[in-house]
This record gives sequence, C-alpha cells and structure tokens, in this order.
Amino acid sequence: MHVVAPEIEPALERLALDGGGSVTRRGFESADVAGRVLVVAATDHGQVNRHVHEAAVAAVIPVNVVDQPELCTYIVPSIVDRSPLVIALSSGGNAPVLLRMIRERLEAEFPAAWGRLAELAGSLRGRVKQAIPEGDGRRRFWERVLEGPAAEAVLSGREERGRALLEAEIEAGAAPEDAVGEVWLVGAGPGDPDLLTLRALRLMQRADVVFYDNLVSAGVLDLVRRDAERVYVGKRRGEHAVPQERINELLVEHARAGRRALRLKGGDPFVFGRGGEEIATLREQGIPFQVVPGITAANGCAAYAGIPLTHRDHAQSVRFVTGHLKESVVNLAWPELAQAGQTVVIYMGLVALEEICARLIAHGRAPETPVAMVEAGTLPDQRVIVGDLTTISERVREAGARAPTLVIIGEVVQLRDTLAWRDEVVVT
Ligand code: SAH
Repeated sequence: MHVVAPEIEPALERLALDGGGSVTRRGFESADVAGRVLVVAATDHGQVNRHVHEAAVAAVIPVNVVDQPELCTYIVPSIVDRSPLVIALSSGGNAPVLLRMIRERLEAEFPAAWGRLAELAGSLRGRVKQAIPEGDGRRRFWERVLEGPAAEAVLSGREERGRALLEAEIEAGAAPEDAVGEVWLVGAGPGDPDLLTLRALRLMQRADVVFYDNLVSAGVLDLVRRDAERVYVGKRRGEHAVPQERINELLVEHARAGRRALRLKGGDPFVFGRGGEEIATLREQGIPFQVVPGITAANGCAAYAGIPLTHRDHAQSVRFVTGHLKESVVNLAWPELAQAGQTVVIYMGLVALEEICARLIAHGRAPETPVAMVEAGTLPDQRVIVGDLTTISERVREAGARAPTLVIIGEVVQLRDTLAWRDEVVVT
C-alpha cells in the first residue's frame, strides 16, 4: 500500500511500511496513480477526491472514493468470511445499518463450519469430476450430498466422518435418482411470494426447467433457480394459450430427457387448474411426479381482503365455482347457490358477473346480499370493490377491474368493515 497525504497517522504509516509499501507526505498529483493496481481516495475534500477519480479513470485503474458511489468504479462490499466461502454484501451506500443487520443474520445462518464444508467439497471436486460425467447428473450429485449425511456431519463438527461419507458417495457414483427425470406440479399461490409453501420453494430451487403461465407472479418466478430454463405456456395478448395437450406432452418430453420439470401453477394446482389432467398423462406415460398444494385464490384473497369465508352466524358453508362461460352462458346449480347462509366464491367471474348476479336474484338470493370483487389479490396493487348483487357489476365496470379477479358473495363480505387489515384501494 502506498499512501499519499500531507499528514499521515503513525498507525497508517506503520501499516503501509510493514506491508512493503511507501508513504509520501504531500498533496496528491496525477502521476501518483501510475503503475498502481487499485486506487482509494479517502479525503474530506471534494476537489481532491474528484482529482484522484479523474487521474485513475484516465489511467484505466479501478478507483473507489469513500462515500461517493458516483465516483467509484468498484465497490468494497462488506463480507461474511467463511473462507473459502465468501459472501459479499453491499447496499450501494444506501443503508449501512440495514446491511449490518443482514450481515448479522447471515453470520448466524452460516456458521464457520460452512467454510470447512466448502473446503472439503473443493478437495474432492477433482475426484467427483472423474467419477461422474459432466452435466445435470453431477450437479444433482452435489445437491444430494450437500444436503445429506456427509454435509450434516461436517456442519456438526465431525469432519473426519463427513469426509469418509463423502468419499463413500463418490465410490458409489451417481445414484440412479440423479439421472431420472421427474415432474413437480407445484401450486404457486395467488401472487404474494410469502405465501409459497416451503416445499414449493425447495423444488423451485432445484428445477432444470419451469413451465408457468399468467397467474404466476413475477415475484414468485424470481425464486426459481436462476439458471433453470423458463418456458411460458400461458396466453400472450392476442395469442392463444399453449394447448393443454401440448403442455402435457412437454412435461413428458422433458422428464424423459432426464430433467426435473417444474410445472408452476397459480394458486392450487387442483383447484380450477387442470392439474388432474396433467398428472393423468404423466401416470399413463410412467413418469414419476409429485404434487405440491398452493394457497388457492379464494383463501388468499379472502384473507388479504379481511373476509372470513365461513362464520358461525353468517355462513355455514362455502362453495368454489367457476364463472367461466361455455358457449356464452354460465351453467351453474343456481337454486343451490341462491340459498342463504353460504358463501359463494367465483373464479373467472369477471366477464359474466352481471349474469351471475341476476341469476342469483332470480333464484331467490336477497338482492342486498353483499358482494366483493378482489382484483390482483395478495399482490401490492390489490383492489377490493364492494357492493351488493344489484350494484356490484356497475361498480366493477366503473372501476375498470382487470383480471385476475375473484368474486366473493355472501353476508361474510360485510365483516371486512371491521376485519380488513391491509392498506389497499377499496371501491364502494
Ligand atoms: N388454480 C388457481 C385458479 C386458476 S383459475 C387457484 O387455485 O387459485 C384462474 C382464476 O383464479 C382467475 O380467473 C381468478 O378468478 C382467480 N385468481 C387467481 N389468482 C388471483 C388473484 N391473485 N387475485 C384474484 N383472483 C385470482
């Protein structure tokens, strides 16, 4: 380290000289950067800092100006050092205290033994390379052993045992399950990533390829393993959706090729999600699969809108129905749905809302029965539009509601007056 400054603290001077560097007692000159690998400007003088910045940039040397991110060409992140494992953190100078809090969490999450685990893995990497051919199989081998008993032994301080177990795994080579493809049909919930199950998250982080559609929110998709291939199979504006049969085929093809195919579906895969059809094909073709439930839109929207779906006094049952039009009519069991004392939740009910309300009234449901339409439920831009069977469709039209929307009909809707707990846009 070479220090240039009009005055230099003895401690800094010692640090520089002990490390084989030099000290120069005068102001900065452009030529000082010549031949240096890295430059740091740490003065309180704006002009000097800028001068150092310009000199370094002109000489194509990386420069950091303390507390002036706009003058930096590199950053000095805070680190959690578990060498050879190093986690670097930066808030770009925005929130040092937040950074410290995150760092404390990471320190606790990854105790020193993680470094030893990384070291052990590194020391056996060459042997694994020889034993297991390049590709998905090798990655899966590592995924399996780094979550298995060998890793557990190292993390609990029994390194010798960990090494022995890992060596035995290498001897055994790729396990058959490392090479077999599989399909995971996973519920992505209604939108808020916090509503994913732990199992969903685990599988999302191991998938080789993901097939998703419109209802899977961007926040959820972000949590899928970064280098997994992403295949959109929903409807693009003006285009048709990938037909269900084609999706079924794609899942089979990818699993046959030995990949772990994640079929990510909004809400719960078995609630108006055609999940049953997808796995029927897999079963026929002998492809292994598993199904992970998700929070269905009805549950997510009800909770986030402050509407209990059942209530001792107001609703003894709840029904989930689809308002999807078939040849421009909604075919539902109207006399049953019109009965009081139950909550009716309508999926895909935006287009036919007016018809649905009219039919319920015609079959005897009280016109003043409260109704809520939840738009983009559980997402940051959630809106709730409230009315009754006679007013709701007009209000929804005025509010310009757009899919996805969920309709909740029943006396329970009025409970939101006291139970709504989120800041949200409400249209009444
Ligand atoms: N399998 C999904 C439902 C698929 S059908 C589930 O269990 O939730 C698609 C319908 O779900 C949409 O038309 C809409 O009515 C509803 N929906 C899904 N996500 C929603 C959300 N975030 N807000 C409001 N409605 C939603």
